[in-house]
Amino acid sequence: MNRKQLRKIFSDTYYTRLSGTPEELKTAEYLAECCRAYGAKAWLEPFDVDMADIESASLTADGVSIPCKGYRLSGCGSVTAPFAYLPSLDPASLAQVRGKIVMIDGYLGIFAYKDIAEAGAAGFITYDGNVHYKDSDIDQRTLRPYVSNGVKTLGVNINAKDAAKLVRQAPAEVTISIQQKEYVSQSHNVVAEIPGCSDEWIVFTAHYDTTSLSLGPWDNMSGCVGLLGIMEALSKEAPLRYGLRFIFCGSEESGLLGSKEYAAKHESELEKVALNINLDMIGCTMGKFIAVVSAEEKLVDFIKYYCSIEGWGIQARLGVYSSDSTPFADKGVPALSFARIATPNQATIHNRYDTMAVMSMEQMQKDIEFLAGFSMTMANAVKCPVGREMPEKIKTELDEYLGRKRKE
Ligand SMILES: [Zn+2]
Repeated sequence: MNRKQLRKIFSDTYYTRLSGTPEELKTAEYLAECCRAYGAKAWLEPFDVDMADIESASLTADGVSIPCKGYRLSGCGSVTAPFAYLPSLDPASLAQVRGKIVMIDGYLGIFAYKDIAEAGAAGFITYDGNVHYKDSDIDQRTLRPYVSNGVKTLGVNINAKDAAKLVRQAPAEVTISIQQKEYVSQSHNVVAEIPGCSDEWIVFTAHYDTTSLSLGPWDNMSGCVGLLGIMEALSKEAPLRYGLRFIFCGSEESGLLGSKEYAAKHESELEKVALNINLDMIGCTMGKFIAVVSAEEKLVDFIKYYCSIEGWGIQARLGVYSSDSTPFADKGVPALSFARIATPNQATIHNRYDTMAVMSMEQMQKDIEFLAGFSMTMANAVKCPVGREMPEKIKTELDEYLGRKRKE
């Protein structure tokens, strides 16, 4: 793809593409058309996602109103309780939670929610953004069904600046009120296929949805464009020894819902998948290229050797990446994620600053060229040599990431 073609795809999809919305579907249809232009058969696979429209949400601290967004799927109603800031969820802190509305740092993960719910929290507050940024943006969060597990607690998200103000104010009482309408919507995986000479497949994944404030060229239209670039390069040489399947995943930002759905629905086909190559964020101007491998450790060594031969700077390691490679690895498919990661003082995600300003079309071209070369090596292997045995370290990390086991 030349730079003009790259720029066109980014500009055609330069809008927020939130899970389960018409904009997300519009992007899915657009990507399917792009695949067809390369001669691939492409279709959409829908799946249900729980949604809610927030009708009203408010947070007051001793009568002072604080801008907030209500957590979708966190319930309806109003709760007034003493305020507690919990920077750590250790036993001593949790012992002081009962009957209070608690504010925590960071994301509300499975175990953080379980801990505060079991400790008797009356409600919760999270925050995002940055105290040093000029904006007062607030991300629209969802109490994910696999996190709440049927136990709803009213919660709001606020801006980091207001979080600090709230702690300084030390209110005696805070009130959370939320009204919302829950419903079921649909999200979609876009699947495209270029058959090979055998019945075995290399599966490529990248998500195309965004969070609520982001236009997401970096996270992760860049990965989608990367898949299209690989498709363009490899389709010219088709048929290769391995079939190529490209999955543009929906609802990754809601907890890898698209790739989880695909891996569950197509479980019986996964033994024929030799490798999953996932792209999540490439082509930024600044930052290092990384590979995170959820497969036998030999693949890490192979990537390092391959990159050394190619003269390609990379940091490769064994691990579980918070992206669409994980549901495949969890089903025993050797999986790896490639990404170009910038430091937070250069580029950040899940906010209004993920824009074309952090992207480089020249870097996109270089990243795609590398990825197409690596993919070609794997897809045209006489026998893909990657073993299917998952190291114990990866099995443990998968259990922890997917909330089956608490991190030690
Ligand atoms: Zn992403």
